[in-house]
Amino acid sequence: MKRKDKFTLLERFYYWEILKGVFLTGSKFIGNLGIYLLKCVGFCKNRSPWITIEYPDDIRPYPPRYRGRHRLTLNEDGEIKCTSCFLCATACPAKCIYIEPEEHPDSSIEKIPRRYEIDTLLCIYCGYCVEACPVDAIRMDTGLHPIIYPADPRLFIEDKEVLLQRSRDIEKQGIDSLRKEHLQNMRALERKTGQR
Ligand code: SF4
Ligand code: SF4
Repeated sequence: MKRKDKFTLLERFYYWEILKGVFLTGSKFIGNLGIYLLKCVGFCKNRSPWITIEYPDDIRPYPPRYRGRHRLTLNEDGEIKCTSCFLCATACPAKCIYIEPEEHPDSSIEKIPRRYEIDTLLCIYCGYCVEACPVDAIRMDTGLHPIIYPADPRLFIEDKEVLLQRSRDIEKQGIDSLRKEHLQNMRALERKTGQR
């Protein structure tokens, strides 16, 4: 951003700028209060005076390219698609993907991950892992926010089972089931920490 080098005479009298700010805030406040009062007496039903979204009860619609929490995808047989090629771990700028490969019992498949873990505390949700994967084995299309403040820091590390279960849940119950579960977990956490 280019900074302004010179101020006009009016801007140098900063009282004027303060007055402008007070006027802007005041006009928004009075406008919203007016809409709120009209709504209370049954008018302006389609207008909302506030823009605050009561997350997580309400969410704004996310764009299709929103990068949510990860999941490992499954093939038609319900088995993990990942072939332990390490491309995602290599592309990851945060170095938060840990993979331990093993031989697949079927000799036509070279490898599968014995361990696959993402440390979501380090993850910056850049999506490079998804871009790097040659077999569409990892996605971030869950529409979920990262988990926040779990009671145990180890819960930030999402392992293979957690990542696969997300795909199974989406397949069986649809993407909304993930959001409902996320909401329940957040509510439980709030109750535990006395926020509700
Ligand atoms: S989203 Fe980015 S930081 Fe997170 S695991 Fe993928 S590559 Fe790494
Ligand atoms: S998720 Fe994709 S890129 Fe990462 S190891 Fe598995 S197959 Fe390779």
